[in-house]
Amino acid sequence: MNFIDSHAHINDEAFNEDRDQVISRVFESGTYKFVEIACETHEWTPALALCEKYPSRLAAVLGVHPQVAQTYDDAAKAQLKELLQNRHAAALGEIGLDYAYLHACPKETQLKVFEEMLSLANDIKKPIVLHIRREEENYEPYDTTFHMLKHNWQPISAKFPGVLHCFSARYEEAKQALDHGLLLGINGCFTYKKNEYIREAVKKAGADKLILETDCPYLSPQGKRGTRNDPSNIPLIAQWVADYLDMPVEKLAEITTQNALDLYNLK
Ligand SMILES: [Zn+2]
Repeated sequence: MNFIDSHAHINDEAFNEDRDQVISRVFESGTYKFVEIACETHEWTPALALCEKYPSRLAAVLGVHPQVAQTYDDAAKAQLKELLQNRHAAALGEIGLDYAYLHACPKETQLKVFEEMLSLANDIKKPIVLHIRREEENYEPYDTTFHMLKHNWQPISAKFPGVLHCFSARYEEAKQALDHGLLLGINGCFTYKKNEYIREAVKKAGADKLILETDCPYLSPQGKRGTRNDPSNIPLIAQWVADYLDMPVEKLAEITTQNALDLYNLK
């Protein structure tokens, strides 16, 4: 089985001591590719350099995370637009809204930068990787996002113009994401006991709409919680999803790998 981790942060400092060893273990685990997410300005160039080191195995996603939206100044804008032309730059992300981090970046700034990011996506014609996080049971950032997608975004004409990464909402939100043509990015959150509502929503969405991710070094799957996550955990996450969806894991691997290849336009 060949798996892809569609969302990893291997350049995170958590891997500073043993990054290359981790990467070689990943490629022996069944995860044959991963997508490095660089969502702070200082991460962009190192992400492309990492791709250069493993050219057939890696791709990069570049953007500005809503938690640090205030860092998106004129210099960052010019640099991001240029770096997104790089052959390893597969998508724009993580972009979106994070209302659990309003203390780190105020709502007005997040909204303004998200709108600019959608306009950049229209400009450069690349898929988007969305990060949406709510505070408690307030689903406002989802409603706002779907409203903005409708009015500010021109999805590229591709099978999948984007992904809602770290899917952790109800079927109501999943349905709206699917209506916009988005995939759902499934990670360790799916495996946690309390998250039955996520599993139900994912089952209703169906395997055809899923890609797998770790979001490492965070969100290790159940059984490995509290340890550092990495892309070699994708087969474990896949097993949880396949069991819940009552399908062979080989079939899930085939579908989700093809979806990730299609989304990021990889060979
Ligand atoms: Zn992430």
